[in-house]
Amino acid sequence: MTSIRDNLDQIRSRIADACAISGRNPNHVRLVAVSKVKPAELIDEAFAAGQQLFGESYVQEFRDKETTVKSPVEWHFIGALQSNKVKYLCGKVTLIHSVDRLSLAQEINRQWGKINAVAPILLQVNVGDENSKAGCASAELPELTRKIAALPHLSIRGLMCLPPYADDPEQVRPYFRQLRELAAHIEVEQIPGVIMKELSMGMSGDFEVAIEEGATLVRVGTAIFGERD
Ligand SMILES: *Cc1c(COP(=O)(O)O)cnc(C)c1O
Repeated sequence: MTSIRDNLDQIRSRIADACAISGRNPNHVRLVAVSKVKPAELIDEAFAAGQQLFGESYVQEFRDKETTVKSPVEWHFIGALQSNKVKYLCGKVTLIHSVDRLSLAQEINRQWGKINAVAPILLQVNVGDENSKAGCASAELPELTRKIAALPHLSIRGLMCLPPYADDPEQVRPYFRQLRELAAHIEVEQIPGVIMKELSMGMSGDFEVAIEEGATLVRVGTAIFGERD
C-alpha cells in the first residue's frame, strides 16, 4: 500500500498536469481531501504531508474529528445537511458546499448571525436531474440564488455538483461544463452578494477532467486515503 504522502504527491502532480494542459494557474485549484469515514490519525498524517484543507460529509463525525484532530486544519462541509444540525458547523467550517434549498440557507443565516459572521457557501446543483441526488434543479437555480443572496449572513461563492457516476470521466465532462455555464449565466445577473468564483467539482475518478472544465475545488477521498469500507 502506498502512503498518504505518496498519494498526495501524485495527486498534486496530476493537478499540475491538468492545469498545464488547460492553461490554468495551479494556484486557482484547491485540493479538498475528503476524509469522511477515515480516522483522525490519517488527517494528521495528511496534514504532516502538507495537506491543510479537509472535507467532511457527516455532521456527527465532523464534530468528533474536529475535537480529536490535533493539527490546525481547515474544514469544509460537503455532505447532505439537515437544518437542525447546522448549529454544529457554525464558525467551524470555512465553506459549506451543499446548500440546495432556501430553508437550509435560512438556518445557516440564523446560526452565523448569532456569531455576527458571514457563512461562505456554495449552491449544490443536481446537474444530472437524478431523483436520488441532492441539489437544486438547474432550472430553479437563478431564483434560488436570488432568494439566498438576500440573506445577510451568507455569501454565495459559487456552485457545486455531484454528477451521475460513470466509469469513463469523459462521460462526466458535459456535467462539469454545464455547472460552469450555469455559474457564468448567474454571474451576468450581477446579484449583490453573489460571487461565482468557485466551482466545486471532480472526485478521485474524474478530477482532471473537472479541472479542464474550470474546477477551483476538487474533492478527492479514495485516491488519498484508500477505499472506504
Ligand atoms: C465522498 C465524496 C467525495 C470523494 O469521493 P472519492 O471518489 O472518494 O474521491 C467527493 N464529494 C462528495 C460530496 C463526497 O461525498
